[in-house]
Amino acid sequence: MTRHYNFCAGPAALPTAVLERAQREMLDYQGRGLSVMEMSHRSDEYVAIAEKAEADLRSLLAVPDNYRVLFTQGGATQQFAAVPYNLLGQGGTANFVETGIWGKKAIQEARHLFGGAHVAASSVANGHTAVPSQEAILLSDDAAYLHVTPNETIGGLAYDYTPRGLRADGVEVPLVADLSSTILSGPLDVSDYGIIYAGAQKNIGPAGLVLVIVRDDLLDRARGDMPTLFSYRELAAAGSMINTPATYSWYLAGLVFEWLKDDIGGLAAMDAINARKSEKLYAAIDQSTLYSNPIAVANRSRMNVPFVLADERLDSDFLREADAAGLLNLKGHRSVGGMRASLYNAVPEAAVDALVAFMADFEQRRG
Ligand SMILES: *Cc1c(COP(=O)(O)O)cnc(C)c1O
Repeated sequence: MTRHYNFCAGPAALPTAVLERAQREMLDYQGRGLSVMEMSHRSDEYVAIAEKAEADLRSLLAVPDNYRVLFTQGGATQQFAAVPYNLLGQGGTANFVETGIWGKKAIQEARHLFGGAHVAASSVANGHTAVPSQEAILLSDDAAYLHVTPNETIGGLAYDYTPRGLRADGVEVPLVADLSSTILSGPLDVSDYGIIYAGAQKNIGPAGLVLVIVRDDLLDRARGDMPTLFSYRELAAAGSMINTPATYSWYLAGLVFEWLKDDIGGLAAMDAINARKSEKLYAAIDQSTLYSNPIAVANRSRMNVPFVLADERLDSDFLREADAAGLLNLKGHRSVGGMRASLYNAVPEAAVDALVAFMADFEQRRG
């Protein structure tokens, strides 16, 4: 068996050690004679799995006690709707910073549901190659919260600071962050945020699970007309089990959290590995005449590295040869073309070394 290097943007690579453990536990979970997939979510065995996952996540991210952790479903896309439902109950307008395709989709969903959505700042004028500064984020007078996308997965654009939702009247509104493609890639100060959410399929586990971390005091701001399954208050009260949760994805997320704690040594260690990985790839791109990346250096994403070839007629050969060399899923998003290498936690440094060597070889032969 060969496991190739997988640079997919999502669903993304999972740690081999995690998959091996899941394989060992597949048919007979810890002598119980059944698979985790076949367990009642209300059983003692499963509740222990679910609670251990939350405890490990809380310890990894040092989640303060006044935050609830929810394991929900519907993808990050569902949160584009759930967030305004949960935060606009007392009126006000959703405010956004638009830094790329995902941020824009969040804006469109808020508009679709509630009409108003204020774009407090946008990087559209620079082609989403640099994030707006804090001073450029101008909230509406009635802003209820500020939504940001700290890492734009498609454009490869990331903040080099944590924005704040400062209104002109001096009120600081809750910061809501779609951290789908960057959560757990390094330490994070959860207390900077009112709500964090992340689809699992990038840095957490398999698709089908969404992590939401919400500050207690925000549970009282929901609209009355929302679907029960969107309600953070109801989800928190039910331990994320209003209905059947994504049990197997939750279990696998728990194995990933254990891997991060015990095998990697925590998020500071993960941060150092991720820094090395992305520095190697950007250095290779910057040194070459064939490859280029347009993002301002300070705002380059460590998780998603898009790059284009100087001659796009080489794209298909590049992809075909990379695939044959065991370097999978380097094709850029269909909306932007070119290439994209996603370097999530489970992509080992050796994968980046192999990619850099392949790119140099390809450039020498074809560039
Ligand atoms: C992948 C991604 C999404 C969409 O996630 P789904 O789970 O497919 O809804 C949203 N935001 C960001 C930043 C993403 O990377």
